[in-house]
Amino acid sequence: MDIIVQKFGGTSVADEKRRRRVIEHIRRALGEGYRVVAVVSAMGRRGDPYATDTLLDLVGGERTLLPPRERDLLLSTGEIISAAVLAQALWEAGIPNTVLTGGQAGIVTTDHFTRAEIVGLRPERVRDVLALGHVAVVAGFQGQSADGEITTFGRGGSDTTAAALGVALEARAIEIFTDVDGIMTADPRIAPEARPIRTMTYVEVANFAYLGAKVIHPRAVELAMQKNIPIRVRGTMSDDAGTLIAVPALSGATAVRERVVTGITQTPGVTQIRVEVDGVDPMLPMAVFGAMAENGISVDLINVFPRGVVYTVRAADAPRAQALLEAKGFRPAVTPGCAKVSVIGAGMAGRPGVMATIVSALTAAGIEILQSADSHTTIWVLVREDKMTEAVRVLHRAFRLGEGDEAGGGPSGAEGVRSSGRPAAERTAFADLSGARPGAGSQAAIDTGKAGVHHAVSKAHHGDGHAV
Ligand code: ADP
Ligand code: ASP
Ligand code: MG
Repeated sequence: MDIIVQKFGGTSVADEKRRRRVIEHIRRALGEGYRVVAVVSAMGRRGDPYATDTLLDLVGGERTLLPPRERDLLLSTGEIISAAVLAQALWEAGIPNTVLTGGQAGIVTTDHFTRAEIVGLRPERVRDVLALGHVAVVAGFQGQSADGEITTFGRGGSDTTAAALGVALEARAIEIFTDVDGIMTADPRIAPEARPIRTMTYVEVANFAYLGAKVIHPRAVELAMQKNIPIRVRGTMSDDAGTLIAVPALSGATAVRERVVTGITQTPGVTQIRVEVDGVDPMLPMAVFGAMAENGISVDLINVFPRGVVYTVRAADAPRAQALLEAKGFRPAVTPGCAKVSVIGAGMAGRPGVMATIVSALTAAGIEILQSADSHTTIWVLVREDKMTEAVRVLHRAFRLGEGDEAGGGPSGAEGVRSSGRPAAERTAFADLSGARPGAGSQAAIDTGKAGVHHAVSKAHHGDGHAV
């Protein structure tokens, strides 16, 4: 049984017109002979009656006093409502289907409410539904603990539902339908000239996702990579083929390493902390980072120099970090309101001129670089948050990412880096997914440990997100 998992995000199921389009995508997959698992997110965005943020606002928003267990109960209903509404639309279209909650779909999680992790997946019930000739409509973003408690995965978690089911069912492909035409060279809300990237590897996409491109959840990418299940990210309302994520051999068209710069991402809400002393104190870094680690505060963009250290933390952790340092007798200089802008490209290693391009573009635009760091696939710069949007746009232009059919152009030696030339419209959604999946095994079990991508990515991260 050839299975395809299609995931429809919040805006994709927000109203009747969009749901009609969703049904077209499902019908097309059925017509091509696939059994379809349709994973849905809660309908719409904040303000829409059953959207996740609207439900959260009902109980006081982020500052709610509702305990995490009850918060998960509440939030899980958004996806359940969405699944039932899509089910009705499918019945109206004559497509038999069965709705399953995450727990009913066999998704077993830890009991870490609001940020549960999948520890197992028993896909038998979904298989039964598919064998019956029904579409399995699964409520995303949720699972069930061993004790039968309803849990959720954290924001953006429906992508993870789709990927986990894709892996457990050994699906031919996972399609992520959303409100943009794929993974783009930058967030199109910030850089309107951003373009979809035609092909990417799992590691590249995970890098994008960890560094702020919220179009796909990084955990979903890690899961799909375990069995090399191709993912296509595409627009629900458009015919554009979007972005194919696969192993390099399948993602084919553009040699990833030839792309000097693939895209720009941003992470707002960052605070910079500088701790300096008169003279030299070799114990200072240990004292500072030890205090952060003991208190579970993740540090990033770390520079150590003889008289002190400078690093960043999430804005929400900054007051605690400052208090801890002051309690140790330090007088930290704290700069709130910063943003991390990341220039990502698997081909930048050893290519001269990338940093020079970044510095000259930002300087020409009058944007101060507060700090920077680099790995072989990414250069990060810290800027003031009120300059973040402009910095992304300036860098997007400097690397000419808005030009041509695919990301990759640039002044730093990206000649010849263009797409295969095959126009997007010529491709059908699945045509190039139907090849063998190298390395795909026959086991249905999913490895729920920390997957390889995280290590690969975090190694390249220069300490991103880790308490040292
Ligand atoms: P969904 O509800 O469909 O899961 P999300 O809001 O989670 O949709 O993700 C889609 C959004 O991700 C887009 O509207 C876009 O603003 C944002 N985004 C951020 N970075 C990127 C990027 N590099 N490419 C595409 N979209 C991006
Ligand atoms: N509805 C959830 C959220 O808004 C899950 C998702 O959309 O993936 O985060
Ligand atoms: Mg999402």
